Parts: sequence; structure tokens; C-alpha cells
Amino acid sequence: MTPRIFRNSLLVGLTAVVLSVALFLGALYEYDEGQVYAQLAAAADYVARGVEQGGLSYLEGLDAGSRITWVAQDGTILYDSAADPAGMENHSGRTEIAEAMETGRGQSAHFSSTLLQKTLYSAKRLPDGSVVRVSANKSTITTLLLGMLQPVAWIVLLVLALSGLLASRLARRITKPINELDLDHPQRCRIYPELAPLTDRLALQSRTIRRQMDELSARQREFAAITESMSEGFLLLDSRRAVLASNRRAVQLAFSAAQPPARLEAVNCRAEVCACVDAALAGAHGARSFADDGCSYQVIANPVVADGQVTGAAVLIMDVTEREQRESLRREFSANVSHELKTPLTSISGFAELMKDGLVPPEKVPEFAGDIHAEAQRLISLIDDIIRLSALDEDAPGFEPESVDLHALAAEVLERLRPAAAGQGVTLRLQGAPLTVRGVRQILEEMVFNLCDNAIKYNVPDGSVTVSLRRPATGGACLEVADTGVGIPYAHQSRVFERFYRVDKSHSRQLGGTGLGLSIVKHAAQYHGARLELQSTPSKGTSIAVLFPESTVL
Ligand code: ADP
Repeated sequence: MTPRIFRNSLLVGLTAVVLSVALFLGALYEYDEGQVYAQLAAAADYVARGVEQGGLSYLEGLDAGSRITWVAQDGTILYDSAADPAGMENHSGRTEIAEAMETGRGQSAHFSSTLLQKTLYSAKRLPDGSVVRVSANKSTITTLLLGMLQPVAWIVLLVLALSGLLASRLARRITKPINELDLDHPQRCRIYPELAPLTDRLALQSRTIRRQMDELSARQREFAAITESMSEGFLLLDSRRAVLASNRRAVQLAFSAAQPPARLEAVNCRAEVCACVDAALAGAHGARSFADDGCSYQVIANPVVADGQVTGAAVLIMDVTEREQRESLRREFSANVSHELKTPLTSISGFAELMKDGLVPPEKVPEFAGDIHAEAQRLISLIDDIIRLSALDEDAPGFEPESVDLHALAAEVLERLRPAAAGQGVTLRLQGAPLTVRGVRQILEEMVFNLCDNAIKYNVPDGSVTVSLRRPATGGACLEVADTGVGIPYAHQSRVFERFYRVDKSHSRQLGGTGLGLSIVKHAAQYHGARLELQSTPSKGTSIAVLFPESTVL
């Protein structure tokens, strides 16, 4: 902008100077010509008076600096101070002569053939009708200009330099406030009132842009908040694999980088993710799985289509560890169930076959029938446990939560187990005050029953089982079943809550265990949001505490 203003200012300055000089010279020239005409007219008056009195002899005796011509009324030259009158043409047609003859006075100018010289004429009519003409040579304006060329050139050069200097300062002064214009608040800059409409429009546009930017960044923040809070990894790529959007999880899982890369290839991208992106950019659905840090992930990529063209790919990376673990648990469970069911059924089938083939002596039949009954009972209790467990797995639909007094519930359970405990020589005790929680009575009862049943089963003669209820200092409610039994070896303690896990399989079977008791306890506790704490010392005893959260305590 500055060079343009400079150029224009310089041009304006120069034009003004050149025009002024030209006009001034023109005016000066005109003024000078007027002066010459006035002098010539005075001289013509003077000569006319002389001719009037002295005639031709006056003229001949006159030593005038100017050329003097005397023209008769018919236009013939009577006298000329510069040429022979006989050789001169008739002058009646000359402008100044014709004018003088008509009005008494006339004047005109004639240019020489080179246009460098000009002759000014002034004529005066005498009373006898003849005309006296006085002339003088004068330089033309061209001559004047040519003569003044050097000083004018110097002046122009000087003016050019000065104009250049002033123009550059002017250009800088004009552009400085414009360059320093605060685009955020253009209306604050009111140096040029002429710029007010522009600054008003700038202010309006700046407000619009700011509003749009605010909206855009709010939307971006919203989008980032949504994607960042996602547990899945999320990636959005354009057709040239530039990463348009991503969340932290995706960056962690897909790239070996801390920051989202500008392009997919910019960093080491996980092969499964790249393969899915390739498939999506080819217009297909891409799906791959990979394992990382002990977890399983699934990558899904879909093409982003606009106007029938694949313009990018949207990638989701999901943590499917839990799902896979559940599936493998389910597979394991099915295998275990089949195995557990098969064992008693094989025994029943074996006993029945022996009896069918008459291989059992009559006195042994009741014993065999008893064995068959015992195995059938085992089957029933196993199936009962499986049903309970699957009901809990399905989040126990149909169970209605209610107020349950754990103290009363434990008392009932202990009452039911008293004969069994007595058979084992185990003493049962209940400690603590009534403690009410909100829960499903049936589930809580099974939980307490299983804990107490185990505590009796895995006890020693003259041992004891103590159920205690208390309100821990940390809040909530605690139901603890402690025994003085055989204890659980340390290596097994972390696994006893797994389905079908038994420390000593044959011993557990002997005691009628299914290996599902503690698993049911775990699920029942989870159902109530409670936590389990196991403490066991081999040969000393076991204590399992169920810690209910404060929210369930009534
Ligand atoms: P089971 O039907 O075999 O009792 P559980 O799931 O109830 O199955 O228990 C799993 C295993 O944990 C048992 O086989 C037993 O070895 C051990 N166990 C459970 N409770 C106790 C306890 N109170 N004392 C010692 N061992 C126990």
C-alpha cells in the first residue's frame, strides 16, 4: 500500500508543480506581451504625430529601434524602415492595418516560420486615412521555455526530490495508523473519519468472526469432551489418512506416540488399525482384534461417505477384555458343569447297571440304593447351585429388594444349620446387634447359608463358628463369618471364589460340596454392591467378611 500512496503522492506533487510552473510562465508571457503592445501603441501614437507634422521626411530622419511602416489608405506601402517599400506587397489585408483603418487602432502578432520568433504589430490611423505601424520582435513561449530549460530542469529535479521525500513521509504517515489498526476493535481507531464506514464494517465482521469462532470452539470442546470421556479409542481420518480427530485412548492404543500424529503414517501405527483403515478407505467395513498389555481390543473401521465418495474413515478401538473373559469363563463353566454332572451320573449309572445285571447281593441292595440316592442328591444340589448362579448372573430378575435384618437372618440360618454343626461337634455363635440393610432376602440368605455351611464343613471337631454383625468405622455394615477350621492354604486363597474351584476336590465332594458355594457368595455380595474380605490361616481358621456400602444400610 505504501509504495502506491508514495507513487500517487509524488505524481500529484509533480503534476501540481509542473502545472503551476506552466501556468505561471503562461501568465507571465501574456503579461509581458501586453506590456510590449502598450509600448508599441505609445510608439505608434508618437510616430503618427510626427508623420502628421513632418510627413515622409520625419520618418526618414527618425532613428527608431523598432521597425516602422507607413501604409497608404489603399494599402500600398509609403515607407518601411526595414525594407524597400517598392518590393512590398499591398498591406490592406493585414489584420492590424485593416483593424486600424476601421477602428483607428489595430494590433496583431505574426509568428516566424520557425515558430521561435514572434512579431507584434501596433497600428494607428492618421487623419488622412493612412496608417502608421510599429512592430517589435519578441521571443515565443517555446523560445522562452527553451531558454529557461536549465533552471526549469533544476527546479523540477529539486521539486522531484522534495516531493519524493514528502511523498514517502506522507505515505508512511497515512499507512501507519492503518497498519496499526486493531482488528479486534477497529472502531477504537478514528484517525480518519473517511475510514469510519470501513472500520464499522470491520468491527461488524470481527464480531461475526468472533461469535463464529466461539461457537466453533464450544463445539470443538464439546466434541473433545465427548470423545475424551469415551472408554473406546476414536479416530477420524480423511481420504489421505490425515488425522482429523482423535482421543487420548486411540493415541495410546493405535500409535507409539504421546501426541496425535498429523498423518497415520507419521508414526508407527498398529498394523491392525492400518489394515482396518485401508479396508474402510476402500469402502468396506474393517474389523481386527489385537492384544495389548494383557487386554484384548477390537478395531472397527467404517468408511465416511459423502456424495457417494469415500471421504475418510471412522475408527473405533474397543476394550473387549471383559467380554472375552466372560466368554472364556462361560466356556470353562460349561465344560466344568458337564464334568461335574457326569461324575455322579456315571456313578448312578454304574450302580444301576450292577443291580440290573443281578451282580449286587440282596443284602447289599439298600447300600447301593443309598449310594444312588446320595449321588442323585449331589446332582440335585449341583443343579440347584447352577440355577442360583445363573439367576445371579442375569442380575436376578424378579427379585424384590426389601429391608432385611441381617441379625435375624443369620439367627435363622444358624438355626437351620444347628443339627449339622452338632453332628460335627461345632459350636455356633451369633454376635452383634440387629442391623438392617436393603437387599434381596433370598440372595442374602443363600450367601449367609453358604458361608456358615462352609465354616461348619471345613471345621474341626470342637471347633466353633461365629457370625458377627457390626457397623465399621468407615461406614456401611459388616457381616463376618469366622471359624476355627482347617483354613485355606495361602496359594488357594485368591481362587476359592472361582466357579468349581476347590482346594481339595475329593474332600469337598465327600462333604457334599459343589465348588459353587463361594462363587454364589461372591455374586450375591456383588449384587448388593458389597465387598468381600477373606482372611485365612491354614490349620487355624478362616474369616470371610461381607462389607455392605453405607447406601444399603437402613
Ligand atoms: P465347596 O462346595 O467345595 O465348599 P465353595 O465354593 O464353597 O465350594 O468353596 C471352595 C473351596 O474353598 C472349598 O472347596 C474349600 O476348600 C475352601 N473353603 C471354603 N470355605 C472354607 C472355610 N471356611 N474353611 C476352609 N476352607 C474353605
